[in-house]
Amino acid sequence: MNNKPLKILIAATEVTPLAKVGGLGDVIGALPKALNKLNLDARVIIPCYGAIDRNKYKIKLIKQNIKVGGASINLWQTNLPDSNVPVYLVEHSIFHGKKIYSTALADGPADIKKYLLFARAILEAVKNINFKPDIIHANDWPTGGLIRLLKNDYQDDQFFKQTKTLFTIHNLAHQGPAGAVNYMAEGILNADIVSTVSPTYAKEILTKEYGAGLEKILAKRKNELYGILNGIDIDFFNPASDELIRQNYSSAMLEKKSLNKLALQKKLGLPPKKNTALAGVVTRFVWQKGIDLITEKSVKAILGSPQPCQFVFLGTGEKRYENALLRLTKKFPDKISVQIKFDEKLAHEIYAGTDLFLVPSRFEPCGLTQMIAMRYGNVPLVRSTGGLKDSITNYQLKITNLSKKPTGFLFKKFASAEFYKTLTRALNIYYQEPGVWRQLQLNGMKQNFSWEKSAKEYLKLYKKLRGNKK
Ligand code: ADP
Repeated sequence: MNNKPLKILIAATEVTPLAKVGGLGDVIGALPKALNKLNLDARVIIPCYGAIDRNKYKIKLIKQNIKVGGASINLWQTNLPDSNVPVYLVEHSIFHGKKIYSTALADGPADIKKYLLFARAILEAVKNINFKPDIIHANDWPTGGLIRLLKNDYQDDQFFKQTKTLFTIHNLAHQGPAGAVNYMAEGILNADIVSTVSPTYAKEILTKEYGAGLEKILAKRKNELYGILNGIDIDFFNPASDELIRQNYSSAMLEKKSLNKLALQKKLGLPPKKNTALAGVVTRFVWQKGIDLITEKSVKAILGSPQPCQFVFLGTGEKRYENALLRLTKKFPDKISVQIKFDEKLAHEIYAGTDLFLVPSRFEPCGLTQMIAMRYGNVPLVRSTGGLKDSITNYQLKITNLSKKPTGFLFKKFASAEFYKTLTRALNIYYQEPGVWRQLQLNGMKQNFSWEKSAKEYLKLYKKLRGNKK
């Protein structure tokens, strides 16, 4: 019997809180902690970006001048804050710039060069420190080159003889610079197992509509393609202890939530009305997120109806969406507030202060905001796609006994009219059936979105990989 913990090397380009751009960072910052609680030896490796605060995170130099092809790198180390999860950082001047990615989508030509060096450096670094991973868990296109290297250049290397690979797709839409080798495809084709961040997205990406040009390649790996829903950090996002919100509350004292609503309305200059529905959006304003479904026409119709609604939008992104939203606030200043910025505190205040949470995405690999919203007793209204579909149970009028434990409102077709219809339906419940509304809130708050659950699913995949080996 071999009782040694499985050794997992998680290779990624972001980890929260050291270097975060989006949801990927949150996953890499939380998953290994949950894995190690399951008695695994999970460690993270990322580039040592110039943007990382080496003092704050107590990063120490552990190896110098490790040869990587013609280059040489240094290796630094720290632990994820409040944990014993080691994080290795590959240092080379190519990572010294202040920005993590050269463009918003990590799709500049400079990124390829950076991440190919990173890929080779990872393999040489772990050899150098004699950490022999049972599994290399790579994430998104920048680590696709790593999977390919291991399969080709390093296939005869005895050190990695037992090493198996898992490649996780966090967002298929980002595949690196056009015209270069497609490392997303390389990762998918060469990994022992491929996964993505929700069961529904795992199915969707096999279709032309969601496959982003890689559906045929994914079809080849259909039998080794899995979907595991991400978790959220349930301690950081906890209405009972959140220090960023006005009033703490829990499902046992849900009525206190309305104090957060009044505080939010006041802060944003909206008329403070406890009994007016308040809908929130916290997102990147980009094509994927489908903000264009919330059109002037539908908003006008809602605002003109006898069941009014206020809206708050927080986010940054493409000018065309920012400007469209700002135009709406000019027309309806006492109904709509638009905040163009990244603001963690305001995000929490919105989760705590709104009644409805809108996520009308065109596609959504997993999505975290709808889960956070439910944790704060907020009822999500989302498009039925990817992780949104997997994390929310639709409320249907016909189900009168609420036995299916509905948590929100889903619509299928990506069309403004559908969004409008669903929002009207939700507002009807909010105003006409407060008992049902409260039950939706409570059902959402009871959901288990902890990382523990997801980590157990990853453990199953790792074990499957171990079982595969000879
Ligand atoms: P994605 O990874 O596609 O951006 P997710 O829903 O997976 O979307 O994760 C978004 C995360 O970023 C959530 O934690 C959300 O609260 C946070 N977030 C997004 N925009 C902002 C913003 N403008 N200010 C504060 N937090 C934000």
